[in-house]
Amino acid sequence: VPLATMAAMVGKWRPAAAQAATVKSYGAGELGAAIAGDELVNYYQPKVAVATGAVVGVETLVRWRHPTDGLVFPDQFIGVAEEHGLIDGLTRVVLTGAMADAAAWLKLGLRLRVAINISMDNFSTVDFADFVSGAAAAAAVAPQDVILEVTESRLMLDRRAPLEVLTRLRLKRFGLSIDDFGTGHSSLTQLRDIPFDELKIDSSFVHGAWRDTTALAMYAASLGLGKQLGMEVVAEGVEDQDDWDLLRRTNCDLAQGYFIARPMPAADLAGWNTIWNERVKDLLR
Ligand code: C2E
Ligand code: MG
Ligand code: MG
Ligand code: MG
Repeated sequence: VPLATMAAMVGKWRPAAAQAATVKSYGAGELGAAIAGDELVNYYQPKVAVATGAVVGVETLVRWRHPTDGLVFPDQFIGVAEEHGLIDGLTRVVLTGAMADAAAWLKLGLRLRVAINISMDNFSTVDFADFVSGAAAAAAVAPQDVILEVTESRLMLDRRAPLEVLTRLRLKRFGLSIDDFGTGHSSLTQLRDIPFDELKIDSSFVHGAWRDTTALAMYAASLGLGKQLGMEVVAEGVEDQDDWDLLRRTNCDLAQGYFIARPMPAADLAGWNTIWNERVKDLLR
């Protein structure tokens, strides 16, 4: 019996998702139609260098423009896609769109590394690595400018398939990132087994860590570990000036969060970039 189920039976503790009773869950049929019918839209959130303020890349975050419910967030449908064999199609739509947007930014003179979130279930598709390189090549985006962010949301019993696909992607020069580091199964075992280029410290060890001894210790340990292993370290969930100052003091490589920018549609990125270049001058003082 999973721990969460056991705890729920005991009635003392329930996971956050179960507490939010208002969260609507969508059916596979409706989601499948949305994927095929162009209802998914990519939003992008910038990643900036802490030392210089330079915008080095963006993370692709999918949203569902639902005909009646408005903008639906991924936590409400990624799980459905994974459970019903729709994640392969979803990832392809997201990736293809992200490559097209990256190509358009390049034309505007913005060279950005584009990160895509990958589900462990994507690795059950044998030709996944070929699909990724095909999509990048078709849009003339260099593999070095594409980062695959991997989260292990549940325990993988068979680790061979993901290892093989990740190794193939790596050989093709795509960037690999370990997402939500320190939570779930995003752990030391993965760091040992897979050659990641980037480590993303989960927001729960970043936002407010400056005044929380436990979170601060975990933030510092993750940062040190990432650096020692030669990875680029990204702090997620940078929400305010205090968070930003902690990153500056501790020489974290990259920052991502609402303090810098909220996820935005592709068309807003160039305009945001101009505003950021002005604002960052004050932040680097
Ligand atoms: P993630 O990859 O860890 O992405 C970061 C999440 O934190 C995003 O939520 C982002 O909007 C949010 N965020 C950004 N800055 C801040 C901040 O300062 N404070 C806080 N509290 N949150 C911040 P979002 O967009 O709702 O996505 C949730 C998760 O859904 C993502 O977590 C990722 O695991 C998954 N996801 C999103 N797009 C895709 C996709 O195309 N494919 C797959 N497989 N998963 C996706
Ligand atoms: Mg991510
Ligand atoms: Mg994350
Ligand atoms: Mg996450």
